[in-house]
Amino acid sequence: MQSINIYTDKIKSLREKLGKDLIIMGHHYQHDDVIKHVDFAGDSLQLSQMMDSIEAKHIVFCGVHFMAESACLLAKEGQSVYLPDPSASCLMAEMTPADLLDIVIEKIKASGKNIVPLAYVNTSLAVKAVVGKHGGAVCTSSNAKSMLEWAYTQGDSVLFLPDRNLGNNMANLIDIPEEKRHTLNVKSKGEALDFDKIQNSTLLFWPGCCPIHEYFTQEHIEQMRKTYPDAQIYLHPECPQELVKLCDGAGSTSYLIKVAEKAKEGSTVIIGTEVNLVDRLTKNLHGKVTVLPLFRAECPDMAKVTEALLYKNLEDIDKGIAHAVQIDKSLIENGKKSLTRMLAHCAKASQ
Ligand code: SF4
Repeated sequence: MQSINIYTDKIKSLREKLGKDLIIMGHHYQHDDVIKHVDFAGDSLQLSQMMDSIEAKHIVFCGVHFMAESACLLAKEGQSVYLPDPSASCLMAEMTPADLLDIVIEKIKASGKNIVPLAYVNTSLAVKAVVGKHGGAVCTSSNAKSMLEWAYTQGDSVLFLPDRNLGNNMANLIDIPEEKRHTLNVKSKGEALDFDKIQNSTLLFWPGCCPIHEYFTQEHIEQMRKTYPDAQIYLHPECPQELVKLCDGAGSTSYLIKVAEKAKEGSTVIIGTEVNLVDRLTKNLHGKVTVLPLFRAECPDMAKVTEALLYKNLEDIDKGIAHAVQIDKSLIENGKKSLTRMLAHCAKASQ
């Protein structure tokens, strides 16, 4: 529930004071108390695409660390990016250490496989740099299918990381047979890789996932079908493929917003994704459509950004003492390659 608290007016007056020097961006999974202050709310792809048009000196990014890193990478000279809680990470992103990824790709390439890495945007800059160095690109849940098709134009096989669920769901959309997919065993610094399986596969997965989207179970779906037999159920593709197959559709946060907004008046739509997005849809649709969460799964890292921390961040910017997100300059060139390959492909595909 959105609330008016002591910070709401203070944030408003600081925003007025900072004027055009400040822009606040927020991911859809942020709480309403934060989202009500943002100039722009979006999914990862929309937030990245926005960066090009932003002229403000100070960019406050209400989201998690990898998103702020991507914003830094795309920021212009003289712009600074801030994260109200620098400890807001992403459990999925943490499942791929960059040095291990590099070792694994080198080993697979050394075995003679022409492999292209495709990294979900939920990865550290260090991982994006490894992917960029090896000729790969980044993708988001909005363009993962199209980027997977792109990756197959660059090599014979693709390594999709870190989310095996998103990878499997996209593979189903472009008809890659199950027997051509293999989830890597990356234990013991890549010593446990199964090269027979790798050679026989065209799509390899990193063994990662989003624990928030793995909360959902078949029982949740069965229970909802029983209670709301006329409802439509939609999931985010970070959910396991077995669940996606039981639903009426799956897609990115933008897709989930669209299906709820376009649903027939009086109907019920059940959505399986981070609960702040679902709650906002419920509120914004004013009962015209009943929107229910499949289960109340909240991302603890997204929840770290609060109205109080946003206020503190703006106050520090105003005083000139805010700490901007810093990125390792040695990672910029290769990190940018992986991001700009995605943005260039998306721009071409939308022409
Ligand atoms: S919802 Fe999942 S993928 Fe998104 S930030 Fe949280 S842990 Fe990461």
